[in-house]
Amino acid sequence: MIKRMMMALCIFVCTFTLVACSGQQTNEPLTLGVNAIKTEIDKENKIITTKDSEEKGVLGNDCLIDCSKIPMIYSKYEVMKRCISGMNFPDYRYEQLIKMIFAQHIPDFHSMYMLPERLRSNLAETFGTSVCGLVPVTHRASGQADKVLFQLKDGNCVETVNLHYKKGWESFCVSSQCGCGFGCKFCATGAIGHKRNMTADEITDQILYFYLAGHQINSVSFMGMGEPFANPNLFDALKILTNPSLFGLSQRRITISTIGMIPGIKRLTRDFPQVNLAFSLHSPFEKQRSELMPINQTYPLHKVMDALDAHVANTKRRLFLAYIMLGGINDSAEHAKALAHLILSRGALSYLYHVDLIPYNATDKTARKFTASNHEAIKNFSDILHSNRISVAIRMQFGSDIGAGCGQLYADERD
Ligand code: SF4
Repeated sequence: MIKRMMMALCIFVCTFTLVACSGQQTNEPLTLGVNAIKTEIDKENKIITTKDSEEKGVLGNDCLIDCSKIPMIYSKYEVMKRCISGMNFPDYRYEQLIKMIFAQHIPDFHSMYMLPERLRSNLAETFGTSVCGLVPVTHRASGQADKVLFQLKDGNCVETVNLHYKKGWESFCVSSQCGCGFGCKFCATGAIGHKRNMTADEITDQILYFYLAGHQINSVSFMGMGEPFANPNLFDALKILTNPSLFGLSQRRITISTIGMIPGIKRLTRDFPQVNLAFSLHSPFEKQRSELMPINQTYPLHKVMDALDAHVANTKRRLFLAYIMLGGINDSAEHAKALAHLILSRGALSYLYHVDLIPYNATDKTARKFTASNHEAIKNFSDILHSNRISVAIRMQFGSDIGAGCGQLYADERD
């Protein structure tokens, strides 16, 4: 009896449901699918299958996601990817977008006509019209050097230098921090003090700016404003620069210049062993180096050299020692001999150490004033290193007349 009653109840419920559904079919179209394939039943009970959600990227007229709400802890390329999938666009839209930036050099989102209008608008609302987030404020050129002062979104400014050589090679010197807190006595940037670290996007946008303007990116050196290893975003920037689908730069085309931050050196050895490393040495004597570069009190020269030895042993790559020639300060024969001894004491791998002698560029921004070593002093210094069979070069300086030389960057419109 109970069994019969249950069956009757079941038949009643099913019949009621069918009637209700058939009633709905005859009135409004019924949407059965919501994602990639959308299926509808029209008033004549015909099934219509469309790729509507794939091409419109929306449900109804509303975006599924507000891209500007995606946290900017990700790089902007990652945010673009999430934005596209969040709007239900297929993955190939991201590939198209990246090609339009890196193969076709299209500088603004609204001109990316291959993309659906709704996606272009959402990208422009999220990132601004321009693909590059930096605003060029001034542009100064002198011979083979161009210097661009960029304003960041919060109003801070940084400088980037483009060096172009006669054979067509283009090299870029990028900044990693707004100002710098390490206070090296000869450096204009150090006189500003530390304002903040640049994000990975801001760092790489310095290159993107030139790239979108049609420049070829042959090499990138982190020798602009700031100490790269003091900014943890550096490593995200390296990932973006070396990502084959983005900038696609070989690690060997990139150089990091450091004042000797040992944790950063170790991480570079581990994560980017093919990236070139340059160490700003400037004096072979601990006491004098501490006076010129206060970082030496935290990471003394002998400990930095140990970290460099480990890097060289691990990578078997040439290591660059940068040495600014300060007249009457660090350019004596005694300094040259001490430097030679420091390098030769590295042992079997000492041949991988290379010294770049850099004539000092005058700046009026530092409290203590320096002068450049004269030509004879630089030559004597070089000869002493040479006679000890140490690889050495005297570096030509470009752009010192526009404040674009080593140690001159100050991010001021008037310079
Ligand atoms: S030399 Fe480098 S680390 Fe030293 S103050 Fe200048 S920017 Fe900072």
